[in-house]
Amino acid sequence: MEAKPKRMSIFDSATLRLTVWYMVMLMLLSLLFSGVLYAVATNEFNRALGPRRQGEMRIFIDDSNVANARTRLIEESSDRLIISLVLFNLAVLVGGGGLSYLLARRTLKPIQLAHDAQLRFTSDAAHELRTPLAVMQTEIEVGLRSKKTSAAKQTAILESNLEEVARLRMLTDRLLQLASQQELPVGTVDVEAAVVEAVTRLVPMAQKRHITIENQVGPASVRGHYDSVVDIIAILLDNAIKYSPSKSHVVVKTRPSGGEIVLDVIDQGMGIPPEEQDKIFERFYRVDSSRSKDYVEGHGLGLSLAQRLATEMGGSLRVQSVVGEGATFSLKLASVV
Ligand code: ADP
Repeated sequence: MEAKPKRMSIFDSATLRLTVWYMVMLMLLSLLFSGVLYAVATNEFNRALGPRRQGEMRIFIDDSNVANARTRLIEESSDRLIISLVLFNLAVLVGGGGLSYLLARRTLKPIQLAHDAQLRFTSDAAHELRTPLAVMQTEIEVGLRSKKTSAAKQTAILESNLEEVARLRMLTDRLLQLASQQELPVGTVDVEAAVVEAVTRLVPMAQKRHITIENQVGPASVRGHYDSVVDIIAILLDNAIKYSPSKSHVVVKTRPSGGEIVLDVIDQGMGIPPEEQDKIFERFYRVDSSRSKDYVEGHGLGLSLAQRLATEMGGSLRVQSVVGEGATFSLKLASVV
């Protein structure tokens, strides 16, 4: 079979087009410079060839010979100048071509990286959306195909579909939050109230897994956006519960650190290997162990969203963990006194 010729990527063709533009500009400048230089030099030569001005010293010995010699010298100089300018322009064409290409690549690199990230994001998002949709489709098709589906079976199908819809809603909500360009209105946030709200959201899930959440947070105020602080704590608690064994404890507490307040969410779960600790904040990244045995639900978007919200409020989100002993996620925000 004949191999298909590789298509030029839009960035390769954009690089080439930009290279040509840079070169055209460079050559125009170079030709303009050469033209001006040639005009000035020719002018000077002509002035030197022209009639002698008053007061200029005259050499009477064989004046016509001297004039001829001067003309020849000037003509030779003019020829040399033209050759030099042609060589100079050729050098600009060759050297400038390479330079223009490097410059074009450099100019387009950040755009290419952003474009690649966008493509990856779209394809990852589509992939995550496909799975629940496929599950729903299969269940509905099976339900429709069998003529004698009992009412109980129909209810089970609807319940299962509802679960998938809830998953899809959470995923699309996170995607929308991640795509949002709106600035967070920052004010004073009551950390204690935010933690109580987040814990209340997660208690049913913790109870299902027989995990206790110990809220040791005292009165503290930080600079931030209330709903975002609640969202971050809820994401951290959700993970602490998901990645911890049944009957373990999750602790939430605050501590002052300079002019900041650190909120720690501490669990006794599986922990995160050191080489994964930076990657877990990337979009759609999930540590393999959370995919394989004892599959844990998730899309790998929670921490990237939490970190983005923390950064937007001028704070930070870090993790410390020892595999098998648990993880501590620390949200740091400026304290308000
Ligand atoms: P999700 O939990 O939906 O997969 P996240 O972005 O919240 O997505 O987390 C990314 C990954 O980081 C998870 O898949 C998991 O592997 C790891 N992780 C997050 N929190 C914890 C935790 N408390 N303990 C162990 N691993 C964690």
